[in-house]
Amino acid sequence: MTVEPIALRKKGSFDVPVPPPNILRERGQQQMFCGLAGIIWLHRKMTDAFFLVIGSRTCAHFLQSAAGVMIFAEPRFATAILEERDLTGLADPEDEIEAIVARIIERRPDIRQLFLVGSCPSEVIKLDLSRSAKRLSAKYFPQIVVRQYTASGLETTFTQGEDACLAAIVPDLPAEKPHDGRSLLILGSLPDIVEEQFRRLFDALGIGPVTLLPQSRSADLPRVGPRTHLLLAQPFLAETARCLEQRGANRLPAPFPFGVEGTTLWLKAAADAWGIDEDRFEQVIAPARDRARRALAHHQRRLRDKRLFFFPDSQLEIPLARFLSRELGMTLLEVGTPYLHSGLLAAELSLLPPTTRLSEGQDVERQLERCRASRPDLVVCGLGLANPLEAEGLTTKWSIELTFSPIHGFEHAGDLAELFSRPLARRDLLKVGP
Ligand code: SF4
Repeated sequence: MTVEPIALRKKGSFDVPVPPPNILRERGQQQMFCGLAGIIWLHRKMTDAFFLVIGSRTCAHFLQSAAGVMIFAEPRFATAILEERDLTGLADPEDEIEAIVARIIERRPDIRQLFLVGSCPSEVIKLDLSRSAKRLSAKYFPQIVVRQYTASGLETTFTQGEDACLAAIVPDLPAEKPHDGRSLLILGSLPDIVEEQFRRLFDALGIGPVTLLPQSRSADLPRVGPRTHLLLAQPFLAETARCLEQRGANRLPAPFPFGVEGTTLWLKAAADAWGIDEDRFEQVIAPARDRARRALAHHQRRLRDKRLFFFPDSQLEIPLARFLSRELGMTLLEVGTPYLHSGLLAAELSLLPPTTRLSEGQDVERQLERCRASRPDLVVCGLGLANPLEAEGLTTKWSIELTFSPIHGFEHAGDLAELFSRPLARRDLLKVGP
């Protein structure tokens, strides 16, 4: 196996979009979850937010089963179910939404922000949730801010729900004050433990103040403006990044903080913006980086030269493919992604092996044919495809698990590798005969 060494690039060199060599663009039947899935991790992260889906019983069942809600629990999300009367125009959905919101607020006085979340049914009947959100905001402000976004499966893949939600917050971010110095804004929800680990590294490097979007409490929204340096922690936040850049933030181009290489280059992008010299950078990151390298070592033995096939699902596919090929020696057969944002992914694309077959969008039947023909050792895909492929003798990894597990940064590089080596270890254990 050859694992390419980390090349610390010159400042600004990741800013140039790299034309990906080999892209297959497909527009056919898709097999992905919708953006409602994002509510599951967002409601845990935003501790004073409530998510009200305006949808159908299908949406309610999906959310409840995806979140594994106990009937005794009172989660901070719910579904207002559109009935026939709403669909046929016999009832005024706006009045009904208003009545439901009033009941929620009475029951949950701790709520400070409420999101009306559009779904397929509300899109189909063209329900104007922005009007409802404005009306409700006027009624409940300043105690509660009401915003809206769509997570409909007609328009979004499952990680785009977070993008739409965060983009809806951006207009409410306060502007920088004239005396504010530069700040670093990390974009994308991260588990608390990962946030803390990154904060410690930035502190040690002398980079700050560091702010985050999303924030745990709506009262702590970060200020934004021309002295805000923006570092994306997740690759699926293109719309939010665009809105923040419109508000004056400067995006720092970098790979995403997965694995040793991605994390090093991600931190380096911020260090360069703050003018931190190489020696200091090396001194600060070396202990955690060396721990991460050691954690990867035994996964390398299991994963090297194993052939990997990604179905498009989470939009994490390209950064993960880069990590798995360059740091663990896996062979990439196909890397599918729902959308390929060549600007945000320029740094990642420049690190992928040039022969990588990339596919954008999906035509699920054709992709299944390519997958079966190439007989990969491991397939990364959504839940809907995993069981049928397992039944055909292929080993799979559910991509949704990647959004629920701490996988960013040096301290979790080993955990990330383990998510891919575990299915192969299980397959070896279950193997019967020669
Ligand atoms: S938003 Fe659409 S795709 Fe998602 S659960 Fe509801 S009906 Fe299904």
